[in-house]
Amino acid sequence: MSSKRMRAFQALAAILAVALAAPAAAQQAAQATAGQKPAAAKPKVVILATGGTIAGAQPKPGDVGYKAGAYPVSALIQAVPGLETIAQISGEQIASIGSQDMTDAVWIKLARRVNEVLADPAVAGVVITHGTDTMEETGYFLNLVTKSDKPVVLVGSMRPATSLQTFDSPNRGPAGFVLFGKPRWFSTPSWKHTTGSEFAGKIPDTLPRVDIVYAYANVGAEQVQALTAAGAKGLVLAGVGDGNGTQALIDALSAASKKGVVVVRSSRTNSGAVARNVELDDDKLGFVAAQELNPQKARVLLQLALTKTSDCARVQKMFEEY
Ligand code: ASP
Repeated sequence: MSSKRMRAFQALAAILAVALAAPAAAQQAAQATAGQKPAAAKPKVVILATGGTIAGAQPKPGDVGYKAGAYPVSALIQAVPGLETIAQISGEQIASIGSQDMTDAVWIKLARRVNEVLADPAVAGVVITHGTDTMEETGYFLNLVTKSDKPVVLVGSMRPATSLQTFDSPNRGPAGFVLFGKPRWFSTPSWKHTTGSEFAGKIPDTLPRVDIVYAYANVGAEQVQALTAAGAKGLVLAGVGDGNGTQALIDALSAASKKGVVVVRSSRTNSGAVARNVELDDDKLGFVAAQELNPQKARVLLQLALTKTSDCARVQKMFEEY
């Protein structure tokens, strides 16, 4: 295993320690209140592995090329000396893929297993090893369908030694920071998620087809025509600026909406929010505005939303609440 991946996995051990500090302390406090002796046992953590660069292998050290998802979870656990001093760790292989190949079927399998594992009172939390390419999409999907308040930590590896800011949150900034091993949160999320989500714990067998249409100068109607012909039930516009596109693209999307395809306008700019009826008349065109969700996260919410309704007003409400 390369030292880069080893470092990332050791970082996982640190994340574990932080993520589990609060639940473990709460469990001990509850036991003390109930007059029981606090258990000396370390918190039980289940690692669900999906592949990614964090489990990648190079043919030989120094090679640029590598195969994502080559190492099994048992090898990752063995590669971190002293992991057992932090928690009782067990691992399960859910998939062994580069996350560019993530599918609805793997999401469904993973989410069901997360819910099963967390329903066990002995389990303090779950760690998911994952590729970075689609990690935010899996994270957001789990955020909507996990029926538990216990921590679920997604971890991946791609960092060069010079850049620690690979992931960021352009609209809201960091959720918190860790000081002397203790997590400090700047705020608690105001949006619905996990146990507060109407999707939590009810994981469907399949998800409806939703595709993303990309806007650029001079773009025509072809993407919309091809995707609706292929059976898309929903389309997300990765629009220019405030979720916009050429007249040809907007006309095609509005025609799709009139035929029952739910169309959500998001922006390709990677920050900001798309609100209703600003530059475009969403009421007239039949569109939903994605608010803060980028196109790939808007696609996740729209897939779940369509399992409940295809009414634009109800879908819009979900985009305001989640
Ligand atoms: N292609 C890899 C993946 O997403 C990249 C990574 O893990 O950083 O699985």
